[in-house]
Amino acid sequence: MTRVRKVLIVGGGIGGLSLASGLRNRGIEVDLVEVKKEWTVYGVGIIQQCNVIRAMAQLGLADRFLGAGFAYENVGLYTAEGHLLQMLPGVRAAGPEYPANLGISRLALHQVLSSTAAERGTSIRLGLTVEHLAQDPEGVSVTFTDGTQGRYDLVVGADGLFSKVRSMVFGKELKPRFTGQAVFRHNFPRPPEIDHLAAFYGRHHNAGLCPLSKDLMYLFVTSSEPGNPWMPEVRLAELMRDRMKEFGGIIGRLRDQITDPKQVVYKPMEVIFVPEPWYRGRVVLIGDAVHATTPHLGQGAGMAIEDAVVLSELLEEEAPVEALLSRFMQRRYERCKFIVESSIQIGDWEMQGASNADRTGIVKKMMEVTAQPI
Ligand SMILES: Cc1cc2nc3c(=O)[nH]c(=O)nc-3n(C[C@H](O)[C@H](O)[C@H](O)COP(=O)(O)OP(=O)(O)OC[C@H]3O[C@@H](n4cnc5c(N)ncnc54)[C@H](O)[C@@H]3O)c2cc1C
Repeated sequence: MTRVRKVLIVGGGIGGLSLASGLRNRGIEVDLVEVKKEWTVYGVGIIQQCNVIRAMAQLGLADRFLGAGFAYENVGLYTAEGHLLQMLPGVRAAGPEYPANLGISRLALHQVLSSTAAERGTSIRLGLTVEHLAQDPEGVSVTFTDGTQGRYDLVVGADGLFSKVRSMVFGKELKPRFTGQAVFRHNFPRPPEIDHLAAFYGRHHNAGLCPLSKDLMYLFVTSSEPGNPWMPEVRLAELMRDRMKEFGGIIGRLRDQITDPKQVVYKPMEVIFVPEPWYRGRVVLIGDAVHATTPHLGQGAGMAIEDAVVLSELLEEEAPVEALLSRFMQRRYERCKFIVESSIQIGDWEMQGASNADRTGIVKKMMEVTAQPI
């Protein structure tokens, strides 16, 4: 029985980069391949809750992470007209040392994760992916799309919603499903009063404002889009304004400033939850490749980062790979399942206009679950 000494990570997104940092902390050799030639991410933001801040601390990244975003505590619930209904105080559920929440621009997060992974000695190659995987009991032989080859103790598919590794190793029939909703997003300068997450509930749509830095915030609007229609980029500003018709107050004022379609980021909500186990021999999937969720609980990236913490911790041990991956499943499966199923449930309630739905109950449960150690 030998330790895992060399790992290939396929996908340089949030999960793959977090894993690279975690593995390098433990002296494990890491090659990472990212299919994009120009390695960048779209510029709106992301909400990270206290469990994610704790996970970043476990990766040795808390200071950089907190320094690159906007830490906040509370969540305000508002009417569509912008009147405050309730201010929910943040709960430092992962420990008093961590703020309840962090808003961070995706670009800033990518910068933190990619620079740390590189500084810690990850070998990163851009503009390529895996072409062929052949495994035997001792390792995986990989052929890349540029014809080069490598031999690894473990291959990790961290290649997101449309994972190539998943379809190569787990079968092409596992495909994401459109839930019926989509999200429009746009950045704005941050006014001082948006120092918390502000959620606005309309009759047909929900909107939110999340602080990202001293100067920046992002606006998101959730809408039902039956049939997942194609949204031409040139019409995105007009379509986003349309989905915001029912809002007054600050959201109404921001609506009138949405004029450049290039500043609008549109994403249909697509989900997948792969039945356990998430590994076949020496190939394992993490993040959106196996448990892509809707954003209703703001935990998708959080689960990918937690996967990275747990996997890097386990791979330090001297044990058969099969045993380590089985323990990975024990620590990750139910937690991720709860997040994916609960998020989908909230989206379904929104689409049904279910007025008696217990959204607050699910959010409370999510906070209890994610506060538990991973
Ligand atoms: C509208 C919306 C809002 C969201 N808001 C939040 C939020 O507030 N909080 C939160 O925690 N999460 C949120 N999420 C979820 C979050 O974005 C994802 O869960 C997270 O990005 C998953 O990380 P990942 O590394 O698994 O995948 P990704 O971040 O998608 O990274 C995958 C990487 O793999 C690369 N890749 C793809 N195919 C290949 C290949 N064949 N070979 C090599 N590389 C490849 C991609 O280019 C990419 O760099 C949101 C998602 C959506 C859609």
